[in-house]
Amino acid sequence: MRKQNEQRVVILGGGVAGSLVAKSLQFHSHVTLIDPKEYFEIPWANLRTMVEPSFGERILINHREYFTKGDLVVSSAVNVTETEVLTADGHQIVYDYLVIATGHADPVPKIRTDRLHQYKEENQKIKSARSILIIGGGPTGVELAGEIAVDFPDKKVTLVHKGPRLLEFIGAKAGDKTLKWLKSKNVEVKLEQAVDLKSAADGHKVYRTSVGDTIEADCHFLCTGKPLASAWLKETVLRNDLDVHGRIKVDENLRVKGRNNIFAIGDITNIPEIKQGFLAQKQAEVVVKNLRLMIEGGRECWRETYKPHSVMAIVSLGRYDAVAQFPLLTIGGRIPGFIKSGDLFVGKTRKLMGLNPHTE
Ligand SMILES: Cc1cc2nc3c(=O)[nH]c(=O)nc-3n(C[C@H](O)[C@H](O)[C@H](O)COP(=O)(O)OP(=O)(O)OC[C@H]3O[C@@H](n4cnc5c(N)ncnc54)[C@H](O)[C@@H]3O)c2cc1C
Repeated sequence: MRKQNEQRVVILGGGVAGSLVAKSLQFHSHVTLIDPKEYFEIPWANLRTMVEPSFGERILINHREYFTKGDLVVSSAVNVTETEVLTADGHQIVYDYLVIATGHADPVPKIRTDRLHQYKEENQKIKSARSILIIGGGPTGVELAGEIAVDFPDKKVTLVHKGPRLLEFIGAKAGDKTLKWLKSKNVEVKLEQAVDLKSAADGHKVYRTSVGDTIEADCHFLCTGKPLASAWLKETVLRNDLDVHGRIKVDENLRVKGRNNIFAIGDITNIPEIKQGFLAQKQAEVVVKNLRLMIEGGRECWRETYKPHSVMAIVSLGRYDAVAQFPLLTIGGRIPGFIKSGDLFVGKTRKLMGLNPHTE
């Protein structure tokens, strides 16, 4: 229940950035979180569930576990005006402050148990195949190949990527180290080729590529990246606030450029840095500070600014290894693996959300 005169903060997207804002602001204003699903999924950990479905128990966190006070609307935002948000299921929610954190569009089940069931099905698909084709050599395709190669070394894994090298979102050294590691685990990597998915459906076994190669595989996984969840904004008052890639233009306080009460954070923004969850979390912290200041009547000059970070990313290669790019160094093997690949930052993220790092 909203107290009289309590400021209304509406957050669009309960992913890495939005869920942290909801958790941090719930006791300082009247917060409404709008997300199409009932849970927050730790996105960088979900590929482990494909080889170990029970891992999903810790990475799927019902929003109500960390967001106990505000309103939760399980639906997608479909329109936004200067004063309110409209959702797909017909809610009209008035805001004083809006935070847009819709990241990438990913049509996953609404209910946690259905998502857990999906993990089991994907695991079964892997278990029952002798040969597996992975399409896409970005972080998702590489990490999935790594998981399967380590947990199911007897399966024949082929990874096809249409670009000239793996992991194009970071430096060439990281891509080279990854290629070497995958080859050492008998993953066949084909670069500069695209798979014609019409040439084979699951169960048909022979896939053709753009250069005429054929690949035999019992099943395939499409890991070509998800679109930004900003298409719906193109029909709204914010249509001119998107850049040519559909990213929201923000100022140094992370407000939508030229607007005083609308913020955007995470992968959806045009901040010139690689899109990473730990950066989305830093942005969430900046917005929480700025919103608290604005709500409590603090001075404008006290507002927190956000500066883009240099490239830093760790890509896991199965349970023990990883490749990491830091600002001055790129390394592969057990050291970066020790940082990320065992627990995939799940305990750390749960702790940040105020939850027990180990249990459900
Ligand atoms: C394989 C892989 C590995 C990665 N590894 C790492 C890593 O090790 N470390 C790291 O820091 N980052 C990593 N990342 C990147 C990280 O996952 C993203 O940067 C992060 O998820 C971005 O957070 P976000 O909150 O902006 O968006 P998301 O986490 O994508 O959340 C967006 C949320 O918005 C919701 N939504 C979408 N549309 C609407 C709508 N219309 N209305 C309401 N809600 C909506 C979605 O359902 C979702 O809940 C990895 C990414 C991948 C693919």
